[in-house]
Amino acid sequence: MKVIAVLNQKGGSGKTTIATHLARALQLGGAGVLLVDSDPQGSARDWAAVREDQPLTVVGIDRPTIDRDLKNVASKMDFAVIDGAPRASDMAVSAIKAANFVLIPVQPSPYDIWAASDLVDLVKQRIEVTDGKLQAAFVVSRLIKGTRIGGEVAEALAGYGLPILESRIAQRVSYPGTAATGTTVLDAEPDGDAAAEVRALADEIKQKLI
Ligand code: ADP
Ligand code: MG
Repeated sequence: MKVIAVLNQKGGSGKTTIATHLARALQLGGAGVLLVDSDPQGSARDWAAVREDQPLTVVGIDRPTIDRDLKNVASKMDFAVIDGAPRASDMAVSAIKAANFVLIPVQPSPYDIWAASDLVDLVKQRIEVTDGKLQAAFVVSRLIKGTRIGGEVAEALAGYGLPILESRIAQRVSYPGTAATGTTVLDAEPDGDAAAEVRALADEIKQKLI
């Protein structure tokens, strides 16, 4: 089992959107996937509950025991995707411990990038402890269509010394739109641009986890 933790202490960075879509993309690719909602607010659980024939299994683990719980709960799965909690750093530590890959969604604004500093420190410590077995990367989230990532933003991100994925997630009305019905853009418009960018993200992460 490979564990992908979608983390960023900042609310609104797109964690739940990305975690639900990534989980569904991996599942549609033929994998067994568990989605772990670590946010006490339960957004991913609420999302899943809206759809009666929900194909994804979502469990809530909102205490800092994710690392040991996942070993027992999801050992038969191909992937577990953790939707990160805002703030609480003990939750982040536990998710990072459980993870093979930490995905950090950041909005392309210097404020959002600076706010990731504490998380990056935690992730880097863990990369060191695991002798580089833990992988981590940023993904630019909610990029306004037709805009580029500014030089300051690229520099601020690069300054952290973690890779930045080539795939990006754009700001699109279809993300909140499909969320309202407990589905994803992959279900609603499988041939659309949004579905393509989500599949590209899933493929890029899968490649890195081989
Ligand atoms: P987080 O889990 O990090 O707090 P969410 O995924 O819940 O972030 O996103 C916060 C809000 O922004 C939600 O209303 C969500 O629907 C919206 N949102 C997130 N990503 C996108 C996107 N790529 N395009 C449009 N809206 C988005
Ligand atoms: Mg969330």
